[in-house]
Amino acid sequence: MSNKKLSLRSNQTVWHPCTQMKDHENFPPLEIKKGIGAWLYGQNGDRYLDTISSWWVNLFGHCNPRINTAIIDQLEKIEHVLLAGCTHEPVVLLSERLVKLTPGELGHCFYASDGASATEIALKMSFQYWQQCGFPAKKNFISLQNGYHGETLGALSVTDVPLFKQTYAPLLHPSITMPTPDWRQAINDETPYDCALRAAAALECYLEQYHADTAALILEPLVQGAIGMGMYHPVYLERARQLCDMYQVHLIADEIAVGFGRTGTMFACEQASIVPDFLCLAKGLSGGYLPLSVVMTTNDIYTAFYDDRISRAFLHSHSHSGNALACRAALATLDIFEQDDILTSNAVKAQLLNQYLQPLKTHPKVENFRNCGMIWAFDARDPVTGFANRFAQLGLGQQLLIRPIGRTVYIIPPYILEEDEMQLIAHGILQILDQLTIP
Ligand SMILES: *Cc1c(COP(=O)(O)O)cnc(C)c1O
Repeated sequence: MSNKKLSLRSNQTVWHPCTQMKDHENFPPLEIKKGIGAWLYGQNGDRYLDTISSWWVNLFGHCNPRINTAIIDQLEKIEHVLLAGCTHEPVVLLSERLVKLTPGELGHCFYASDGASATEIALKMSFQYWQQCGFPAKKNFISLQNGYHGETLGALSVTDVPLFKQTYAPLLHPSITMPTPDWRQAINDETPYDCALRAAAALECYLEQYHADTAALILEPLVQGAIGMGMYHPVYLERARQLCDMYQVHLIADEIAVGFGRTGTMFACEQASIVPDFLCLAKGLSGGYLPLSVVMTTNDIYTAFYDDRISRAFLHSHSHSGNALACRAALATLDIFEQDDILTSNAVKAQLLNQYLQPLKTHPKVENFRNCGMIWAFDARDPVTGFANRFAQLGLGQQLLIRPIGRTVYIIPPYILEEDEMQLIAHGILQILDQLTIP
């Protein structure tokens, strides 16, 4: 065993995601030894409240006894078997439950491991559907300004985060970007509702002209996460659904971040009473325990692939598609939702955290304070240079693991958050804002 600090060894061999590795010269990665509930523990008894649910995946805390028990039980039966030509109880049970739980008649579940793979699957399925249904011209995808759908090449093609995208632009399939309904884009005294309708009008204008070439619209319902928690009025989703119906364009709802109660309802689409043609889920699906994603779709789409000819099948696979351990973790996660009536308890928790965060709403260094379900965000006014890194570093001093995006500070806590932890978050953020002086 090397005596060298774990973080230094990590820097030598682990290439960390979404990281300029040179930054780790000054800010080495946090060494995490264990997690209990909402807390992450370092090597020296130091601990940090996981205010961002480990990149928005963890719903019920680290080392949750109920999820642990389910995985251990599954481990004794079968850890993984290929899903081509074989099936197993956890994947069947999970599919049955997801079909019941999701809005409308999304009756078929196609599994992968990461969110980006779910995006790829939805895009490929949509394209192939139109090819097989006599609309070969429908090849284009439209997506929203500031949207994020993952970082593999297909997913990146429909993502609009310049920092992630620019370098790879020559490799990407051109996609068309529509104005975002994010209410921070409101002009003059537009309400969020007006702002969403204006964005929808632009979508209508585009589809009117180009629907014949358009396969699908992909969007993040209600909250555009990766750009910095841009939030919008559900009327946009209503209009988008109407327009997609009118112009024969698929609607792909990427609920990878917002699914499983994040926006207050089990799925964000429910708040606009719409049913997408494809629903992408990942992140919280397995309680954040194991990589698991799924694309759910309608009988109509499924039927277009059902045929005697192999070439009409959806010939796409991932080695760990429908992994049994991950499916068991997902089943245990759904059990907790049901047994503990999580949506109701989250509503109470959200109200409480809003009270504690109240001082931020009128804070001189804060603008655009916003909340949707179990997501909170605000933008720093006149941020100092290197704001995000400095805020994150100061956060550790307040026992908070917090990672601003640009000048946006956000909280996406696990659903087991307790009142004293809410106080710690509110107090910590106010302290950090005081420490960060305006240049
Ligand atoms: C995180 C995320 C993805 C990508 O999921 P990965 O598991 O990181 O590949 C896609 N879409 C949205 C909306 C996300 O938040």
